[in-house]
Amino acid sequence: MPTLVMKFGGTSVANLDRIARAAKRVAYEVAKGYDVIVIVSAMSGKTNEMVGWVNETSPLYDAREYDAVVSSGENVTAGLMALRLQEMDIPARSWQGWQVPVKTTSAHSSARIKEIPTDNISAKFGEGMRVAIVAGFQGVSSEGRITTLGRGGSDTTAVAFAAAFGAERCDIYTDVDGIYTTDPRITSKARKLDKISFEEMLELASLGAKVLQTRSVELAMRFKVKLRVLSSFEEPSDTAGTLVCDEEEIMESKAVAGVAYSRDEAKMTLISVADRPGIAAAIFGPLAEAGVNVDMIVQNISEDGRTDMTFSCPVDQVLRAQSALQAAAANDSINYHELVTDEGVAKVSIVGIGMRSHAGVAAKMFATLRDEGVNIKVITTSEIKVSVLIDRKYMELAVQALHDAFDLDKT
Ligand code: ADP
Ligand code: ASP
Ligand code: MG
Repeated sequence: MPTLVMKFGGTSVANLDRIARAAKRVAYEVAKGYDVIVIVSAMSGKTNEMVGWVNETSPLYDAREYDAVVSSGENVTAGLMALRLQEMDIPARSWQGWQVPVKTTSAHSSARIKEIPTDNISAKFGEGMRVAIVAGFQGVSSEGRITTLGRGGSDTTAVAFAAAFGAERCDIYTDVDGIYTTDPRITSKARKLDKISFEEMLELASLGAKVLQTRSVELAMRFKVKLRVLSSFEEPSDTAGTLVCDEEEIMESKAVAGVAYSRDEAKMTLISVADRPGIAAAIFGPLAEAGVNVDMIVQNISEDGRTDMTFSCPVDQVLRAQSALQAAAANDSINYHELVTDEGVAKVSIVGIGMRSHAGVAAKMFATLRDEGVNIKVITTSEIKVSVLIDRKYMELAVQALHDAFDLDKT
């Protein structure tokens, strides 16, 4: 029988009624003849709550124990979904990551899936089971410890299962009815897209559009998984949602396809570091070792052999960054005059493969922000995106203004 992967995010399994509604959705596909692999998230809010508990208990926590705690929300929903389906007389059972086993790297809290053996679940399908429910977001390392795949990681679990089982499609059920030109919560002018290219979705996701985890888009692109994002609150239809597909399948060719934002960024500046060969390695090496995800980097011009180095990172990693830099200073591998931290910034980005052929896109972005009186603190660009760091209080305004300026509400 053909296999379908259906992933239900936190809001789609937020309580028993929602789980029942999702189960009906699964039953609909089972009735069509699919063997279904359901990937579930934790009930909405649960993972955040557990992350809070971990931080409160141990601010510079052991990531192995963080994973042990925060992976548990998915176990609850997987079991409940299996029970609900059994109540509907559909043969179903749950799997935790380690039972499959979803084998991952040992990079706790941001592990990557290395392998998903299919024999275990396939054998059960062979015995008449119709639905395998797998706890998303989690796996097991070669050391036998529970790992998690980073926030939003159930999307990646879903795509990885679709690839491993050669599923006909991977449907990501969430609380919006597809992928929009920007987060529909920021502007009501956001427009739903029927299709979006892997490349653009990859950029949007990595720049903060959390509708899909970045790694899930990467995997779908690499393994040619047919990936669809749709709402779990709407009636079933074969054309619902947004399809993530190859560039060639898309007719629309605008310079900009979407606007993404990342709200909780921090900007850190090392004032007056020695401008010598190896200084960047001496700063960013320890930050990487401490697990800080450095994003934008700017080095000032130097004066009298000293310079300022600015970088951005997620605001919840500031403590780790500070302690890594202080330790590097204490063992004399770097020396700086002062470390200045601005925890009140956000990143806003425009993305589009059309930028490759349209000139003046960045200039138009900067002019739009100027007209709104928004000061730009840091800029980075690539072939298909421009990102700026700005004061967080202007983030919504910037997204709305850019969405208007690039006519994203119009087809
Ligand atoms: P789930 O819990 O189902 O995984 P998420 O909260 O992770 O859901 O992702 C869905 C959310 O992503 C939406 O509610 C929306 O606010 C946000 N989002 C951000 N950018 C976009 C976009 N471009 N299109 C659609 N949703 C977006
Ligand atoms: N529950 C996890 C999170 O909130 C994984 C997911 O929902 O995708 O990040
Ligand atoms: Mg998500």
